Amino acid sequence: MSGIQGKVIAITGASSGIGEATARLLASRGAHVVLGARRVDRLESLTSAIRAQGGSARHQALDVGKREDMEAFMRFAREEHGRIDVVINNAGVMPLSKLEALKVDEWDRMIDVNIRGVLHGIAAGLPIMQAQRSGQFINVSSIGGHTVVPTAAVYCATKYAVIAISEGLRQEVGGDIRVTVISPGVTTSELAESISDEGARDAMREYRRIAIPPEAIARSIAFAIEQPDDVDVNEIIVRPTASP
Ligand code: NDP
Repeated sequence: MSGIQGKVIAITGASSGIGEATARLLASRGAHVVLGARRVDRLESLTSAIRAQGGSARHQALDVGKREDMEAFMRFAREEHGRIDVVINNAGVMPLSKLEALKVDEWDRMIDVNIRGVLHGIAAGLPIMQAQRSGQFINVSSIGGHTVVPTAAVYCATKYAVIAISEGLRQEVGGDIRVTVISPGVTTSELAESISDEGARDAMREYRRIAIPPEAIARSIAFAIEQPDDVDVNEIIVRPTASP
């Protein structure tokens, strides 16, 4: 199946920001979106809003750090629609701080959500796609997956990891299954709200003045999906024109 119309698309981290904008756009283009995140009230409102526009949406509570949650989420998507065409591993957290602040719990959280979450999405989605002999993973990395800045060592490490995992997956399963990395620059969302370190939060507030809307990232995701099956967009970097 080519294009977006009629595809079953599972999106993690769909309760705000890039995930929410992507869900709205893909549903408006005729996809059956299946939405996962922890804030179920947000997912409920989004599902209702999409349905009110004539779109197809379903949701389920999901903590991507828990493998059993991810397995249940993918099972739900497949039971509802009979297949899964695209998995968008988008959920992420970014509690920035200098390493010397030793916020080890926050390092663990980034590793759990940004790396383990993507791996869990692959573990749950890959057998389904292999059985179908088709599918696409879209893994959301970051401009931070290409360059490191102070306070972002662990966050960047997780986003470098997303690129490495995606490239390995592409090499191993390419042929039937497409693998795309989306690497956004600064984008308006709730991501910076997870920053507990005051200095890092102030710096990010300043940086966010040039942020682009999440719909810009959603369009790049739609572009990767709508290519013909024999075209695999491997990575798209999208950032504000005003980025340094
Ligand atoms: P938001 O904070 O708005 O969205 C993050 C989403 O991830 C939320 O829906 C949140 O839902 C979800 N999430 C967080 N933890 C978990 C979890 N344990 N299980 C399931 N879902 C979880 O930020 P963005 O939209 O900006 O972030 C989306 C992705 O884009 C992230 O991977 C981020 O790293 C990446 N990115 C963002 C950039 C930006 O400038 N905004 C730049 C580069 C990359 P809930 O809390 O309800 O679980």
